[in-house]
Amino acid sequence: MSQPPQADIIAALSSSSSSRTRPPTQPYSSFSDPVTSLVNHTSTPTNVRAIHCPRSECASTILSPGAAIWVTFSEPVLPDDSAAPFPQPRLVQIQQLTSKEKSDSSEKGEKIVEKTQYGFWKVSSPYDFDNIGYSRPDTSEKAQARGGPGGEGKVKWLICAECDLGPLGWSFEGGKEAWVSADRVRYRGEIK
Ligand SMILES: [Zn+2]
Repeated sequence: MSQPPQADIIAALSSSSSSRTRPPTQPYSSFSDPVTSLVNHTSTPTNVRAIHCPRSECASTILSPGAAIWVTFSEPVLPDDSAAPFPQPRLVQIQQLTSKEKSDSSEKGEKIVEKTQYGFWKVSSPYDFDNIGYSRPDTSEKAQARGGPGGEGKVKWLICAECDLGPLGWSFEGGKEAWVSADRVRYRGEIK
């Protein structure tokens, strides 16, 4: 292995400083088992990987690892616009078995009880985001009517701070918390 000429090293350094480097990112759909791959299964289930804008050419960092908590809701919550460049909402399977149910089902040979839910990243404060944009309060939508959490104020949609793509999630006017749809963002790194 020969060393690259010094001129090449200087050229590489100057080009990386003039244009933002975009890290490799993967869509939610590329994970065969997103709950296992993306959630840190400790006492607080947080995001293992950094979360990025869904537009791979933008890839703005939205959340650093550990900044958001995994939650599930029974509805996809976000409005579905067929013109938007988002994948179909994807259900995750969550096994809901108590020990009694488990022994009953093994005795009777019943099927395992599974609950299908949609995954979201709950963010406690606007300061927990690396980069995020907010829409103006939306008077037309009530996210709580779609299976998401209730909120007193009007809905404010989350959008990418750099390219304005959205909605990626929602918050409530006057509230600190925000929710990012897990299937509308990309994740740092290669699939192992
Ligand atoms: Zn973006």
